[in-house]
Amino acid sequence: MPQLSTRISTLNAGGSDGWGVFYRARKMIAQGIPVTELTIGEHDIRTEHSILEAMAASAKGGHTGYAMVPGIQPLREAIAQRVTDRTGVPTTPDNVLITPGGQSALFSAHIAALSPGDTALYIDPYYATYPGTLRAASGTPVAIPTRSKDAFLPQKSDITAAAKAHSAKSLLINSPNNPTGTVYPDQTLQDIAQACIENDLWLISDEVYDTQIWEGHHLSPRALPDMADRTLVVGSMSKSHAMTGSRVGWILGPERAISCLIDLATTTTYGVPGYIQDAALFALTQGPDFEEKIAAPFRRRRALSLEILEKQTTVKAIPSSGAMYLMLDIRATGLSGEAFANALLDAHHIAVMPGESFGQSAAGHIRLALTVDDDRLSAALTTLCSFAKGLTDDT
Ligand code: PMP
Repeated sequence: MPQLSTRISTLNAGGSDGWGVFYRARKMIAQGIPVTELTIGEHDIRTEHSILEAMAASAKGGHTGYAMVPGIQPLREAIAQRVTDRTGVPTTPDNVLITPGGQSALFSAHIAALSPGDTALYIDPYYATYPGTLRAASGTPVAIPTRSKDAFLPQKSDITAAAKAHSAKSLLINSPNNPTGTVYPDQTLQDIAQACIENDLWLISDEVYDTQIWEGHHLSPRALPDMADRTLVVGSMSKSHAMTGSRVGWILGPERAISCLIDLATTTTYGVPGYIQDAALFALTQGPDFEEKIAAPFRRRRALSLEILEKQTTVKAIPSSGAMYLMLDIRATGLSGEAFANALLDAHHIAVMPGESFGQSAAGHIRLALTVDDDRLSAALTTLCSFAKGLTDDT
């Protein structure tokens, strides 16, 4: 076979993909061993029936041909209206491109921001696909480390130093955050905006968890002064409406950027299926009560997890206020996140993600996805805490 391109053969940088514990757990399940999986960021419910009915009605009604590449106009309008209402930033359909999920939006946004080889900054810990996505978009990824003691919030001085050292072109942030569950406070977002303006960076703001806020509020940095022209927002129906498999999301940005991104869509995805977009439009018109219904289990499970964690001192929760995850500091056990996760899986058949899967800043931590029912979650977390305590007693 002819040689594969450098770009495609180096997408995962030759390292581990961080999913070792997850694959081991799946293997155990295949062998008939019951495992409590707190690994993957997906709801434990399926897409609501009424949304599927809207999808089927659209498909049966003939919306199975090519759809408009930028997205169907009513969906672009609905998203523009939603964003205008929620952020106060005047937004028209020309600021919106419909994409096959947030993942595709992340890739496309970086294609818009980077020329080949340009440095793309991102915050460590990070959602596992980020570095590969930046490489796929021909960027050079540079991680900005954060610290457990700062709840993994990025600091302006670190962003500025990295931007200057690498003449960076973009910064990717994610609030509410996967894997930490942190919601960036207004001050952090203002600092980030300032760093972007001072260093002429595109800000790519991944807001796919914006309906999962347990404390405080979500501020979209596109709404900050002078930011609408340098911000590309990534949105998705996956988390807000339990539509992960439908693959529908969007990019918001300046008209000129969206117009170029439509050219990219024309040459890559050629749009999103019309019946999926009709289903997304139907789902969006269900309103905030529906979104709260989808978010409620995670709100509840976070609260009950914090209650369990409060009763002991070995495992520490990183202060979080959003998303379907909890990041736990297990450094008191003396183990790495990976060693802890593997030992917990062997001893108690509970699968969690090692912090190291999300970057070196989260070493010595583990991430829990709050995606099993309340009773199983409580039981697993109680076991996890006494397992951790047992490890400290040994040392
Ligand atoms: N960003 C973050 C932070 C995520 O956690 C995910 C999915 N887990 C995505 C983007 C992509 O989501 P999707 O492509 O399903 O919209």
